[in-house]
Amino acid sequence: MFDKLMIANRGEIALRILRACRELGIKTVALHSTADRDAKYVRLADESVCIGPPAASESYLNVPAVIAAAEVTDAGAIHPGYGFLSENADFAERVEQSGFVFVGPTAETIRLMGDKISAIKSMKQAGVPCVPGSDGPLPDDSDEVIRIAAGIGYPVIVKATGGGGGKGMRVVHTEAALINAVRLTRSEARAAFNNDVVYMEKFLETPRHVEIQVLADTHGNAVHLGDRDCSLQRRHQKVIEEAPAPGISEEQRQRIGMRCVEACCLIGYRGAGTFEFLYENGEFYFIEMNTRVQVEHPVTEEVTGIDILKTQIKIAAGMELEFSQDDIVMKGHAIECRINAEDAETFMPSPGRISQYHQPGGPGIRVDSHVYSNYVVPPYYDSMIAKVISSGATRDEALGRMYGALQEMIVEGIKTNIPLHQRLISDGAFRQGGVSIHYLEKLLAS
Ligand code: ADP
Repeated sequence: MFDKLMIANRGEIALRILRACRELGIKTVALHSTADRDAKYVRLADESVCIGPPAASESYLNVPAVIAAAEVTDAGAIHPGYGFLSENADFAERVEQSGFVFVGPTAETIRLMGDKISAIKSMKQAGVPCVPGSDGPLPDDSDEVIRIAAGIGYPVIVKATGGGGGKGMRVVHTEAALINAVRLTRSEARAAFNNDVVYMEKFLETPRHVEIQVLADTHGNAVHLGDRDCSLQRRHQKVIEEAPAPGISEEQRQRIGMRCVEACCLIGYRGAGTFEFLYENGEFYFIEMNTRVQVEHPVTEEVTGIDILKTQIKIAAGMELEFSQDDIVMKGHAIECRINAEDAETFMPSPGRISQYHQPGGPGIRVDSHVYSNYVVPPYYDSMIAKVISSGATRDEALGRMYGALQEMIVEGIKTNIPLHQRLISDGAFRQGGVSIHYLEKLLAS
């Protein structure tokens, strides 16, 4: 096991990584920008290094500064968390070239999955179902593009192979709009991702977002930890997630889960990862793989009893998975609400000092958060300040506990989206389970 690990992230995930390290007896190094000097995890870590000013580009995304921090503190491994450098293949490569262990897959795997066309190609080889589409890059020839779209059938979606964060895609409903849409998506993709390769997929009109969590070690073992439903989204940002996905049979879950396990073996996957699918009319369609731990990992931890963070670190240290697929059972139900520092109606960020903070508790309630009374939410980063996770023997019990937890939670001095969560937890369609990815935006528009 590592003697010391550096946490190359901030916020709640930095604290989550720190807690996992403490349990494993690993010393921690917290790196931070000047804006995060007073963060709780910085105080709790064995060592800390200030790597730059508030702007993420000059601190958390500054590769030479991050590597230098690992060098001066002599850390054995670097955990990238989510966001920031976590899916940056060049960073993963630099980490390993500098003699540290990157807690995640190889740079080669990150690169393969980061390019959507090559990811889809690998998934098809592994028998993972994908959205019907162009099977590779769109050609320059307009007539050929029109033929491809006609073959798929409208509406279609034009997507940048290097895209991410919900950017670089465009829905097209008619042939008349097609060529211009392809041209626009190309130029946007060139500007945003320095890569103008685009492809085309059938646009699914009312899908749900269902994803599969996997873990793979370096000894050829891979398992899946079942599914999560993350359909409640606004601007492609997840708001509430749950496990298991409502209305999906155990047989379906195992079938798609095993396909993901096979894909892990095929690409030589290492660590924790997520296969994201759109789910419509009983069918799964792969859209992308996230090669890192996800914000919503706690709901899976709650229903499987497996600590994903600790397992991730053990895998990075070369240890073998301590369980096989047969040992993994999803029990009960878990729901996560992402609490953001933002106005619940306008979604305007609301940074500033939290004058009073009281987190909920009781049976089946877990709160992953780095904030406390008098903590100042900086304006420079993601607005998420806490994740409230409820679990219960049934979905109804988890919903009831979440309802109580949201009523109990006090965050004063800044605005939060707790009122939105209260509304959603009581919403009839959501309570029934299985709403589509468009449900939340439609509800907000009405
Ligand atoms: P990103 O990497 O930018 O997150 P994804 O490929 O994961 O891009 O797609 C993001 C979101 O865009 C999906 O969650 C879904 O809402 C929508 N989307 C992507 N592809 C399709 C499709 N073929 N049909 C319908 N919606 C899609």
